[in-house]
Amino acid sequence: MSGHLAGTDAGLPVLVLNAGSSSLKYQLLVPETSHVQASGIVERIGEPGSDVPDHRAAITVMSERLREEGIDVDALKPRAVGHRVVHGGSTFSDPVVIDDDVVARIRELVPLAPLHNPGAVTGIEAARARFDVPHVAVFDTAFFATLPAEAATYAIPRDLARQHRIRRYGFHGTSHHFVSRAAAELVARPVEELNQVVLHLGNGCSASAIRGGRAVETSMGMTPLEGLVMGTRSGDVDPGLHAFLHRELGMSLVEIDRLLNSESGLRGLAGVNDFRAIEERIEQGDADAQQAFDVFVHRLRHYVGAYMAQLGRLDVLSFTAGIGQHSARVRAAVVGGLEHFGLSIDPQRNATRSSDARVISPEGSPVTVAVVPTNEELSIARQAAALCRETEPA
Ligand code: AMP
Repeated sequence: MSGHLAGTDAGLPVLVLNAGSSSLKYQLLVPETSHVQASGIVERIGEPGSDVPDHRAAITVMSERLREEGIDVDALKPRAVGHRVVHGGSTFSDPVVIDDDVVARIRELVPLAPLHNPGAVTGIEAARARFDVPHVAVFDTAFFATLPAEAATYAIPRDLARQHRIRRYGFHGTSHHFVSRAAAELVARPVEELNQVVLHLGNGCSASAIRGGRAVETSMGMTPLEGLVMGTRSGDVDPGLHAFLHRELGMSLVEIDRLLNSESGLRGLAGVNDFRAIEERIEQGDADAQQAFDVFVHRLRHYVGAYMAQLGRLDVLSFTAGIGQHSARVRAAVVGGLEHFGLSIDPQRNATRSSDARVISPEGSPVTVAVVPTNEELSIARQAAALCRETEPA
């Protein structure tokens, strides 16, 4: 669909906004050509001492910065504004054109994503007040709406789970969707024929198993805390840990939440969450950094193995995001010793630096191992543009 240039809009950019509670990331890009006209971030929104009191002011700051770069975004009128929204609950399994009802329903999901959805709502409201064009919400959970019930269900009392919408939702869906399609293009096979595992390894990390283009498993759960070891998040821990920390250390729920979300993961193990720093310290023989790396990789291999068993057959394993795209050491460690499962890496291909999607397994491998750069903004821009075309009056 993306090859079809509709009418007068072709070549006009889409403004993609990713509003957090105190930041607004923006990118102005043309979906057909992937050309990025401008991008940036407004930070410290609403923080003490900041001169950006709220998201409306942040949009004004963004517009001023764009004007300094020679772009009058109000006069230009983007074709659409695409909003990244973290949590779509069970309500949204596809992108939607935003109206008042959609905003109300995103607000209803705040209890499920208290750190993320409030920022998205205020960002959407500020942008709608400023830009009189279609606004589209693209949800991070949407790609995982297809998870089978047995993968989405926690083994807790059924009625409680139903009543309070407690289930596994999955996150980073825009990236897993984008990368699985790009990987299919890379191996020149229809996505419908492929069994894939995608490893999104950035500050947040998640794995997914994808059968015929549809997600059947993912490592993040009701919140983005479950699963892999991340920059500052623990990923999987014994659920009994919470009771222990409360009972033995007197920690409050807020403190436990902060511990597991912000002070754990690579930061908890090695004191830093930046993977480049971890690798530099490994080079210098630092034992904590080495252990952080080992725990990170061990958890990844655990998920790769589990997903191969769920899929029954694996065709493509893709690495993406900051760590996945750049750390040859991680890729080699994750795939090492799995030849019996059809997985191997060509060291030279793995060491080659490139910003393009590329195969790093040897020629003729049963499983193709690939590095596939993700591009969530482009994916959001394309989905927003496609939805606007569909809903255009004839
Ligand atoms: P992202 O959230 O996708 O921007 O990824 C951020 C993570 O990628 C951070 O942990 C970075 O340290 C890591 N990263 C970025 N570039 C490199 C690199 N060249 N080598 C290793 N890790 C990297």
